[in-house]
Amino acid sequence: MRITPCQAALAAAIALNLLLLLCSRLLPGASPACRRSRRVPDGVPGVTVILRDFDGPDHDVAATARSFAALPGVPVLVAAETSPYPPVPLPAGVAVLSLRPEPHRPPPRPELAVRTRHVALVPDGARAAPGLLRRMRDVLEAVEDGGVKVVAAAVGRRRPRCLSLEVDIKAWTARYGHADRRSDQRGDNHGDQHGDNHGDQRGDNHGDQHGDNHGDRCGALDGAPAVLLLRTRDLFSLPFPLTRPVVTSLSLQAAARGWRLLLLPASFPLAPRPPPSPHDQRRAQTALESQRRTLLDLFGIKLEVLPDGSRRWHGCAKDTPRCFGTVLRQTPEYLLAGRWTPPCCLRALRATARHVLAQLEAAGVRHWLEGGTLLGAVRLGDIIPWDYDVDVGIYRDDVPKCRWLAAVAATGRPVEDPQGFFWEKATEGEFYRVHFSRSNRLHVDLWPFYVRPGGAAAVMTKDTWLGHRQDVEFPESFLVPLGTVTFAGVAAKAPNDPRGFLELKFGPGVIESPEYPNPGVRRLAQDVGNKTSR
Ligand code: ZN
Repeated sequence: MRITPCQAALAAAIALNLLLLLCSRLLPGASPACRRSRRVPDGVPGVTVILRDFDGPDHDVAATARSFAALPGVPVLVAAETSPYPPVPLPAGVAVLSLRPEPHRPPPRPELAVRTRHVALVPDGARAAPGLLRRMRDVLEAVEDGGVKVVAAAVGRRRPRCLSLEVDIKAWTARYGHADRRSDQRGDNHGDQHGDNHGDQRGDNHGDQHGDNHGDRCGALDGAPAVLLLRTRDLFSLPFPLTRPVVTSLSLQAAARGWRLLLLPASFPLAPRPPPSPHDQRRAQTALESQRRTLLDLFGIKLEVLPDGSRRWHGCAKDTPRCFGTVLRQTPEYLLAGRWTPPCCLRALRATARHVLAQLEAAGVRHWLEGGTLLGAVRLGDIIPWDYDVDVGIYRDDVPKCRWLAAVAATGRPVEDPQGFFWEKATEGEFYRVHFSRSNRLHVDLWPFYVRPGGAAAVMTKDTWLGHRQDVEFPESFLVPLGTVTFAGVAAKAPNDPRGFLELKFGPGVIESPEYPNPGVRRLAQDVGNKTSR
């Protein structure tokens, strides 16, 4: 039998594939080739220093690198999208790790550049302190609390604030609080209730004169630079190991995994530098803010609740588009991503609903909460956390009483009211829509109902049916008289027997059995028990 070159190549390819399969499935770690192809090696003892957070023309990368590279056996990497510019003289042995993918190069694999078992992320301007990196590593390895995956030390005199952090992925929210701290200072208070479980091995001398390894357990650090030390494999198990700002990025990813940071009392020196000019300070602040915004956007954090309870919103507003596209099959895109309605959108929906309800009330338009909106009101006094609009029923005969509806009905053209809400006739059928604004199309749908002519008992009907389960006619007796329910912070008009009304529309037990609008596309059960926050 003759073998053509083509057959030979095919056979070789199959053999190689089988070898790789064997390598990955049957003999993990059996040969160096296998290990290389599968995972990051555990590494050699030691700590690699990575410099990542530096900016602008005034950075201190060269001197910071020099200071740490002078420590015996500490490799230093400068990680950046582009080489520091203007060019800086890096000391011998300090490598630049390019993080920018380029079409003519292999993809950046920073994890392959670190050969030691531990890494320290060092902020610009820090200076090495003899023995401190080693001590941080020893503390990390000795700590009994398995949740502590990062050991931190301040740089300079200012101590970072030690915060608790809860990341709720579904709710697009990061909640900061005051951490339940072990100790405030060196010379801490051992009499508190947490005094029994310190981060170090008590009385275990790690070979330096600083016996005090107690620290604060934090979910996040904020407000001052810090060196973070962790196991190399932990750092590179993160999807964003080197995303800036490093401390914020690592805090958020750590919180999403239940990891904690142990902030030691010891600190690294900060290089003395002339105070920045107000202009430079502003520029640095702007750059940091922009980095933070990019990071939060990347992580899908649209709301930060700060320790004092104040809120920082990063989602949609009156002058932006809404956060999600057209909803098809009753399933907004965020549900497929395993998230619920962005908090900015819920806030805008509540504001629109309160505004519309007040306008209808003031104009004497008979109205009531409909469908999923009534369901949310009865269930929790609010919009259902994964809902994307608000539905309100109105008497069609009352439309002329509301000036905005009357204007839209008369002209067929949309109207923007003085508060910036945008009223229009829906293109999908015989109903009205009030949007949060002209650009942000979060909306309340107003469904004009009327008494069906010719029936014995009065039945409410309408002209446009969307084919949803809850889209059915109902006896007018539910509306005479109207009742009230609490909704989005106000008393809203509702059918006088909300349970009877909802069970007629959705089926028995609907109040007690939450489900997504279209379980055929995605079911709630897929997402509960899959809690990402703690
Ligand atoms: Zn939004």
